[in-house]
Amino acid sequence: MRRRGKNITKYCYRENVQRVDSGGATNRTDNTQNDDDEKILLERRKKNLVKYEALPEYLKDNEYIRDYYRCEWPLKDIVLSLFSWHNETLNIWTHLGGFVIFVTLMIMSLMEKTTMENLFANIFRRTSNGEWMNIKNNGSAESFSDSYARQITNPSFLDINGDGYEVAIWPWFVFLGGAMSCLISSTLSHLFACHSLRYNLFFWRLDYAGIALMIVCSFFCPIYYIFCDQPYWCIFYLSTITLFGILAIITLLSPALFSGRFRSFRVTLFLAMGFSGLIPATHALSLNYGHPQVLVALSYEIIMGVLYAIGAVFYMTRFPERCKPGAFDLVGHSHQIFHVLVVAAALAHCVASLVIMDWRRGWPTALR
Ligand SMILES: [Zn+2]
Repeated sequence: MRRRGKNITKYCYRENVQRVDSGGATNRTDNTQNDDDEKILLERRKKNLVKYEALPEYLKDNEYIRDYYRCEWPLKDIVLSLFSWHNETLNIWTHLGGFVIFVTLMIMSLMEKTTMENLFANIFRRTSNGEWMNIKNNGSAESFSDSYARQITNPSFLDINGDGYEVAIWPWFVFLGGAMSCLISSTLSHLFACHSLRYNLFFWRLDYAGIALMIVCSFFCPIYYIFCDQPYWCIFYLSTITLFGILAIITLLSPALFSGRFRSFRVTLFLAMGFSGLIPATHALSLNYGHPQVLVALSYEIIMGVLYAIGAVFYMTRFPERCKPGAFDLVGHSHQIFHVLVVAAALAHCVASLVIMDWRRGWPTALR
């Protein structure tokens, strides 16, 4: 397995050398040059962290991060690098941590445990300003946060509340699945993309596809619960964003759009997908202006949008490392900040979705 990994590395490195040289239309036939290439290759395999200048072209992405690169390491060493310091360590752990949070939410949703329920209710109490604590769920004795906690811990796909109304919970699982897919794809990409050109191409495409998938899946919860009594609008909005997402994934998988030159294009595409949600959000507001929970949910969605937008600015401007190249190689560079903001935005959407679900549970119309 290891030998095979090395062969792939060697193959990819050579492939890269040829790709770089192809602009000058020269073929490497000189034995001395081949020996030099072998020396560089062996040096990179030594588990040493290397400087930006020592990287092959396909790993040169951010010139303001000057050092601590893993470069074409064997797979075993890459896996072990999860627990060592390099310039991707915090990029990996920020999204791995986010993945663990969403796995926990999924488990809590599938298992009915009183302790978890109380825990989640307490979390909500701390994050709420208290004003909404007094909102009753359709006249029941439960507080808003208690019914909200009950929503997340309900194990069934069809929940029947105290008044006998059925509320489908599958859109919530669609959202959790999308978030988990995005975060684990990102984690694996940051871990393994340094292995070889082939891995690099595969994992970064996986990362982009994961982001597009999470954006699409994020739409399901709010749109389904808000427009469930208007099925044509529900189907229209969900099918439109799904189609948009499929086209985005196809576009992002195109090799022509893979290079760093299209960084802004990719970000613009993701932002366009996300902010297309303003259309159904405006529609929802016009239909349900008098419902406080809808306003609360929209507030959380606005927070989510702001967090994503700030994250995109960090991602594109490469601030702060561009101000002092080399100073933020390990901690504090733009991509780490972007990752933290992505997780925070996903959690804001999580709260918005639960508020909308809770609101719909109190409605006299049932979700079928
Ligand atoms: Zn990332």
